[in-house]
Amino acid sequence: MTKKLYWEDAYLSEFDAIVTQIEGPNVVLDQTCFNPQGGGLVSDTGHLNGIQVNEVHYGVDDTIMHVLAQEPPFKVGEQVHGVVDWLRRHRIMRMHTSAHLLSAIFHKEAAALITGNRIEPEHSRIDFSLAEFDRARFENYVHQANAIITEGRPVKTYFLPREKALQIPGIVKLAGAFPPEVKELRIVEIESIDIQADGGPHVRELREIGEITVEKLENKGAQNRRLYYNIS
Ligand SMILES: [Zn+2]
Repeated sequence: MTKKLYWEDAYLSEFDAIVTQIEGPNVVLDQTCFNPQGGGLVSDTGHLNGIQVNEVHYGVDDTIMHVLAQEPPFKVGEQVHGVVDWLRRHRIMRMHTSAHLLSAIFHKEAAALITGNRIEPEHSRIDFSLAEFDRARFENYVHQANAIITEGRPVKTYFLPREKALQIPGIVKLAGAFPPEVKELRIVEIESIDIQADGGPHVRELREIGEITVEKLENKGAQNRRLYYNIS
């Protein structure tokens, strides 16, 4: 198991860790600030002892695998220093919290469900299951999101015992996907807006997002609408 330092503090971008496993360019550490890809989010990039980390993903037994640009000179048992590309990561956090906020508004206003998403630092997209395709309404929902952002609500992350988490309306469906051995769920809550079981990093306050802008709207079949958005 790799300790997820990004769960304790999403704003920590440098850390020391002990190497526990190496396979070619793939490195597992006892703890990390690197958020792996998953839940629609791209992974962090950065450096381990100065060597480029191209990609990060989950390995077996709840480990986190750092894929380096080359085989590392360090060995298992040694201490290494990790640095996450912070500007990129912070944009991913802003995009991710934006996705939660937009999803909550689309769900509240149009009962739209999320069928897919891709959160990247430069451009992100969300797919909604929604029969109608009305550009003005989409723009209006994004406008609502921006109004809520200016109110500056806190984004809280905390852990709840599985049974307690499953009683919260709205996260039941999602949380049901967690395997039974997961005894505690990580909860992300945008005050009075949204509450979800979630593993990715978020900003701590909505105003950090800035402003959400619509880049493009697309039809994806009869029931799916794709929103491309950006932040400024
Ligand atoms: Zn999320």
